[in-house]
Amino acid sequence: MDLNVKVAVRCRPMSSREKQRGCKEIITMNGNSVTIKKPEDGDAGHGDDEEKQFTFDYCYFTDSEQQSVYTDLGVPLVTQALDGFNGTIFAYGQTGSGKTFTMMGNDAMPGIIPTLNNGLFHMLDERMEKIEADNEKEGLKAETKFQVTVSFLEIYNEIIKDLLNPSSKHLKIRENPEMGIYVEDLCNLIVKTPQDIINLIDQGNTVRRVAATNMNEQSSRSHSCFTIKIEQMTTTQLEGGKERKKLVKAKLNLVDLAGSERASKTGASGATLKEGANINKSLMALGTVINALAEGGSGKRKHIPYRDSQLTRLLQESLGGNSATVMIAALSPADYNYDETLGTLRYANRAKNIENAVVRNEDV
Ligand code: ADP
Ligand code: MG
Repeated sequence: MDLNVKVAVRCRPMSSREKQRGCKEIITMNGNSVTIKKPEDGDAGHGDDEEKQFTFDYCYFTDSEQQSVYTDLGVPLVTQALDGFNGTIFAYGQTGSGKTFTMMGNDAMPGIIPTLNNGLFHMLDERMEKIEADNEKEGLKAETKFQVTVSFLEIYNEIIKDLLNPSSKHLKIRENPEMGIYVEDLCNLIVKTPQDIINLIDQGNTVRRVAATNMNEQSSRSHSCFTIKIEQMTTTQLEGGKERKKLVKAKLNLVDLAGSERASKTGASGATLKEGANINKSLMALGTVINALAEGGSGKRKHIPYRDSQLTRLLQESLGGNSATVMIAALSPADYNYDETLGTLRYANRAKNIENAVVRNEDV
């Protein structure tokens, strides 16, 4: 199965600070299209059209609900994962545009990561019932066991850290035919209940926050990746006392990228500027990879510079590889952010052209 990257855009409501500044809304949506209007006396983009329109697979406006974003984007990936297909969701956009709100959310409005984890267990139960009913109907003596493991990491300044097992260790990305791309020594913890996962998410988020305040850094400068692995082992009793074992596995990557803004606008200087440069290295590499893939077309063998950054290496299988991929581009509605928002829309527009080759992970 060949699948294009699915691209969604989500516009958050105007913040109170933007309202206080007297910002105007420049984003409108109509069905699957989004229009951005150039601010009246903005100096940005001379000679540009007054309005630009883009279409995406999904458009969510300021009043969209967390649940509908999950239902549209998360549920299909979980369903596919139970059939052995990998999936990835990544959130892109400038700092403050709503990436973390969409991926993680808060207690009152949980985002994709906690909601998907919860949903996964319900869907596993349903799947188990269906498998058992099917076996009974066909008179098969078979047993299926599921195992769910999670990991949670952060890439900051091109250094990978384990958020579930904090240490000063710098983790390395490796690759082998059996495991694909993986992070060496990263904790993969077995989870049995939705509450197990919630606890781990909280633990990881706390580590992120503590690190951020201790070193006077902002979590907006790091990329985080929450990965869920689902393995199903089915043992079928065959005639003559033989057994057939089938392993179906899938990996879901849920990625909250660092802010996409350029260093100049954030007023970064000194140490923070260097961080910005490194983050730009990962995000720039992501942009280069997306461009190369978008231009590549199918069938052509072209060099894609995945190895240029940790982020692109980690996401390699999700970009033009073996994964159904969803990109969520987060937008601010305010005229003050025109340049960044237009940049995000253009970036997202290019990502639509990437084709992934998704294959089922099954071993008999
Ligand atoms: P980012 O992770 O992109 O830097 P955040 O997710 O932290 O941005 O969002 C910035 C602020 O805007 C937060 O206070 C968040 O709660 C709020 N926010 C973001 N998206 C939405 C939304 N769709 N609806 C309501 N509030 C939102
Ligand atoms: Mg964030």
